[in-house]
Order: sequence, then structure tokens, then C-alpha cells
Amino acid sequence: MSDKPEKFIDENGLRLDGRRVDEIRPMTVEMGVLSRADGSCYLEWGNNKVLAAVYGPRELHPRRLQRPSEALVRYRYNMAAFSVEDRIRPGPSRRSTEISKVSGEAFEPVVMKQFYPGAVIDVFAEVLQADAGTRTAAINAATLALVDAGIPMKGLVASCAVGKVDGQLVLDLNKPEDNYGDADLPIAMTEDGEITLLQMDGNLTADEIAKGIEMVRKGCEQIFAIQKEALLSKFGTADEEEILKEAELQAEVATSEDESEDVEVISETVSEAEIQAEDDELEAEDEDEDIELQDEAEAFTDDEVGDASDEAEDLFGEDVSEFEITENAESEDDSSSEPEGAESDEDEGEKNE
Ligand code: UDP
Repeated sequence: MSDKPEKFIDENGLRLDGRRVDEIRPMTVEMGVLSRADGSCYLEWGNNKVLAAVYGPRELHPRRLQRPSEALVRYRYNMAAFSVEDRIRPGPSRRSTEISKVSGEAFEPVVMKQFYPGAVIDVFAEVLQADAGTRTAAINAATLALVDAGIPMKGLVASCAVGKVDGQLVLDLNKPEDNYGDADLPIAMTEDGEITLLQMDGNLTADEIAKGIEMVRKGCEQIFAIQKEALLSKFGTADEEEILKEAELQAEVATSEDESEDVEVISETVSEAEIQAEDDELEAEDEDEDIELQDEAEAFTDDEVGDASDEAEDLFGEDVSEFEITENAESEDDSSSEPEGAESDEDEGEKNE
């Protein structure tokens, strides 16, 4: 570990990495980087490199952990063994367990969990390279991963720390400032400015805390802007009118579901018209199922049936000249094509108990 610097801020008011006291480190984000996750985001902030992945909403196992009226949001913060100078022992530690708990809670006011009773939304934040401020970096990445997964949210969450070095408040601490400074105050907030995470190491006066929160507010405004830019570049540049229309439609869907007290899982981007069209299509498919199966069977020419039975004969050494397509056969196929994750989820749930 590097030694404590003599001074953290030079005579020009610049910090060791050339920033002013109220400046955040450069941040870049990229959404949708993992094909197997429902949502993901890779974020670099200064020398921090963090990957966030969201899985779900999916059924929570074991079932006794399910919440009847809302989804459970599980957040796991993890530092890769190679992410710091001294290798970190793999597996959960007191520090990572605490960070996971408070970071998950930072999303409480925004994630609309009521749409997914009995489900779980898993958020994994993996720190690949750490340089102070990893819990805040992970929250900024997790917000975008949640949006990428299509989880309905009332707004975004941004996070940034403030601290004190050389008797001055500094925004977004770098490693030496975090290690040798007088205080570290990581904060997360919603777009409305509601504080959803606040932790503190070291000593700050009440006045310094108040001033520090204001500095973080400004830092978070910049982070919200970066997050929104990423969202616009990923999801297109829909005009404001279109966004409002979509929001109104969703509000109507939510209200009618609330009224019937039959809250169902809904996709956040599907309009009512699309839902109706899909329902009609499914109904029509059900009705026509027998006819289609019949058509499918009839679609084989006698020659094709002959070829197929010859091949089967070669394989099984029997005369297989007749075959039947039944509904049962099809449903058996369906059950065998069940996603692999289904069973492993159960296992994972048991492990996570
Ligand atoms: N750190 C480390 N080993 C650890 C924990 C942290 O080297 O076991 C480093 C890492 O660079 C981290 C920094 O110390 O970013 C500050 O850690 P802190 O606990 O304050 O959390 P963070 O600021 O990363 O949220």
C-alpha cells in the first residue's frame, strides 16, 4: 500500500489526481453486457471497475421465503479476489454482507415490488477492480442493470461518497483519500433527493455533514445525467409525449389490476393493446391446436413417411411404419424443454437460506 501523502490538496486547490474538491471521477457505463442476465451494466469510475447483473423477477425458492404481496430484492456485493492489491479471501465477509444489506435497501423506495408477489429479483454486483468508492459504484451500475432487466422503477438511484482531507470536504474519494483521510461518508439517493443510504467512517461535524450531503447531491445530479444518457442511447430517443403516453397506459393497467385485487406480474413496456393482441393470439392458438397437429401430420407425404420409417428401422432395427402425433406427446416434449435454471434455482435458494 502506498504511504500517506504529505498533502492531499495542493496550493491550486487540486487533489492528487488533479480534480477539484467538488469533482467526481470520470464515469463510463455500458448496459446489456451479459447475455444470460436479464439486465446488466458494466461501469468504470476512475480506476473502479464494476459489473452488475440482475436476474428475475423469477419464482423464489424455497417457497417459504416468498412474500405474498411483493417481490424480494436480494442484493449481493462481492469483491473479486484479484480486485485489490492484497488478494481478498473469496466468499462473503462481514464487510461484504453489510454492504450487500444496505445497498439492497438503497433501492427500497424505487423498485415497484408490488407487481411481483412471490418472486425474487437478484442483483449481483461484482467488483473487478477496486479503487475506493466501490459500494457507490456498484449501486450506480445496479440501477442501470435493474432498468435493463425491465424492472418497473419509480426512478433511478445514484450514489457517491464525500469525505474530508486536509481539513476540507472532498467529493468522491480516491484511494489515498479513503485510506488516510479523516472521514468517508457514502450516500445514495433517489432522483427526488430522498437519501436511501448513508454510512459514515471517521469524524465530521453536523455542519460538515450537511455541507457534504449538498456536495453529494450535486455529484449525484451528474451521475443521473450519465445514467440517463446511457438509457437514451440503449433504448432510443423517444420524445417526451411518447414517454408520457406510455406512462399513462401503464398507470391504467396498474390501477385496473389494483381494483380487481388480482395483482399480476406485468411487463413494464408492454402496452394494453399489445397485451390484448397477445391474449387473442394465444386463445386462437389453443383452439386451433388439434387442427394444427392434424395439419402437421398430414403435411408429411407418403414418401417422407416412408423415408422416416426406413431411417427409424435402420436405427432401431424394427419396422416403424406408423406414427401418431398426440397432445400428450407434445406436452411431454414441453416439460423436457423446461429451462435448466428451474431446478438449479431451487438449489440456489436452498443454499442462500
Ligand atoms: N479495500 C481493500 N481490501 C478490502 C476492502 C477494501 O483493499 O478488503 C480497498 C478497496 O480499494 C476499496 C477501498 O479499500 O475500494 C475502500 O474500502 P471501503 O471499505 O471504504 O469501501 P468502498 O469505498 O470501496 O465502498
